[in-house]
Parts: sequence; C-alpha cells; structure tokens
Amino acid sequence: MAPLPDVAAATPILKSLGVTARIGPGWSLIALALATIALTNRPGRHITFDRPAGSLVIRTRGGTRLDHTATKPKDLTNSLANLLTATTCELCGRPGRLHPWPAPTILCDACAFLIENPGHRLPFQPRLPLVESARNAAHELEGSPGLDDLPAGWAQRVLMVFSYLRGLDPAGSLTVEDQRTFLHVQFDADADETVLRLLRVLLMTGTAASCRHCGRTLPRKRPHLGQCDGCIELGEFGDETVPIEVGWFADGWRAE
Ligand SMILES: [Zn+2]
Ligand SMILES: [Zn+2]
Repeated sequence: MAPLPDVAAATPILKSLGVTARIGPGWSLIALALATIALTNRPGRHITFDRPAGSLVIRTRGGTRLDHTATKPKDLTNSLANLLTATTCELCGRPGRLHPWPAPTILCDACAFLIENPGHRLPFQPRLPLVESARNAAHELEGSPGLDDLPAGWAQRVLMVFSYLRGLDPAGSLTVEDQRTFLHVQFDADADETVLRLLRVLLMTGTAASCRHCGRTLPRKRPHLGQCDGCIELGEFGDETVPIEVGWFADGWRAE
C-alpha cells in the first residue's frame, strides 16, 4: 500500500536530520519520533535505525550531552520502539500485526494480502487488522456459496448461524443480505420458524454491534454506519497501491 501521508512526510525529514534508516517506509514516523528524543538530549548525534530479525533497533554515536543528570534516553527509546512497531505495518504505516511469512514482519492486512496475492486487486478496504475470531471464521467460510461479498468483520457471526443450522438440518442453507450497518439473513432450512427467527435476530444484533471491516465491538451510543472509527479513518486515506520494494528486508526476503 502507499504509505499514509504523515508517514511518507517523515522520510525526507529523517534524511535532512542525517539519520540512516535501514527500515521499511512504514516505520519512518516512529523513527522520526525516536530520533527527536535522542537528539534532544544529545545534539549532533549520528543515528542509525536497523531491523535485525524484524525488530526496530536504534544505534547512536557521537553528539554532545546537554545534561549529565538527565535520564539516559536509550532504554526509553528502545522500549518505545518495540511498543510502537509491534502494531505498525512496516511497509505503509497502517495498523498491523505480526505475519510469519516470508520472515516475521509487522504488516497491515492490506499489505499482507497484496504480498500473498501478487497481481490481485485488494478485495476489502484498508482496515484495522481483522480480529482473530473473525479471521478464523472467514477462513472456515471461504468458498461457501453466496458469501463472496460477506464483510470479513462479520464472518464469525455468520459462522455461528451456520453451526446452528447444521445442527437443525444438514440441507439447510441461507442467503445473507448486506444492509451496511447489519446483516440480514434468509433461510431455506427445514426448521422451526421460531428458531429461525431467533437466529435472524441474533445475526442482526450481532453484526449491528461489530465493525464490518475488522470485527471489533462498536460503541453503543454513537452512530457508526457499521464501521469502527479506526476503519473509517483508514478508508478515508484510500487504497492506492505502490510497487513493494522489499529488497533491503532481512532474512532473504527479496522483492522478486
Ligand atoms: Zn501496510
Ligand atoms: Zn474496524
């Protein structure tokens, strides 16, 4: 994905500060924040960022220490580096999570999809990382008829209804209708109408309470159009893609 605007803006500032950053472009803003801390305490420092084994590490040399009594910022910057990079896509700066392939790397769902499916269009809007339960459910429902356009954040709710239906009637099937803020379901199942009505209500209320993109619980008291605040914001930044330049990533991961 194209880096977020503030993340992209940080790269030239890092260069103007003389910072060497052998890291993915998505971590530029974090590196700039950490470099600012390091330079404030010791002007004139040369700062280098590396990513051994996929973790951000800051190294510094030289500079003039302003205050000998001040807390050394090294421990602070390294723990901040771990904290911030653990949830930030190294390629674009969107919220991400650890992906094992091809080497342990923090990626957003969009960048991970584009790496694993080269040449494909992104089938979902850039989002917060899908919660684990929804991720597992979406995987289980893959290829199920009529569910191609099912919002992934709602997969767990649909899987739950599926499980009930299997118990009632193996031939039972359902059609889901995306109403944007909730999911409506039509049953073709040989089962008690009262039970089906209950399942329909469970699905409607369950999906109305969770983000269609990432599966996180939505605030009760505010209008949200079926999306959490994080996914709304990421949607507004668009879904522009750029060629992935990963040649400098460690552990043999190369662009080609
Ligand atoms: Zn990304
Ligand atoms: Zn969301």
